[in-house]
Amino acid sequence: MTKQGVVPDELTKPFWEAANDGRLVIQNCTACKRLQNPPAPACSQCSSGENLEWKEMSGRGKIYNYGVVYDTPVKLLQDEQPFNLAVITLDDDPDIQMYSHLPGTPVDQVPVGASVEVVFEATANGQKVPEWRVAG
Ligand SMILES: [Zn+2]
Repeated sequence: MTKQGVVPDELTKPFWEAANDGRLVIQNCTACKRLQNPPAPACSQCSSGENLEWKEMSGRGKIYNYGVVYDTPVKLLQDEQPFNLAVITLDDDPDIQMYSHLPGTPVDQVPVGASVEVVFEATANGQKVPEWRVAG
């Protein structure tokens, strides 16, 4: 599925650069030992921006739940309707959630609870984005 190109900003640049290298990184506060996503200029727990780093994840997760999108306002995605939209929790920290279209999984046949692995797909402007595939 061809997706809208992502335009990284100053805050999210390390995330998108890592994605282009095939690595999934999530913001980590070294003071609180806590991951946070989406990224923010400061830790939402200790309010400090000083202790934030980007930590590489294992790239493994689980399907938490999902929906099927029948009518999206996003023109690039309209040809692909309907499509899956799943919530993935990371094995590194199940409190961290990401969305995925689950490439390779038929519409509305999503195995909730199944293990998934991150893959990186190029979008319209060449920027790669993390997606998730059912493992095994
Ligand atoms: Zn913190």
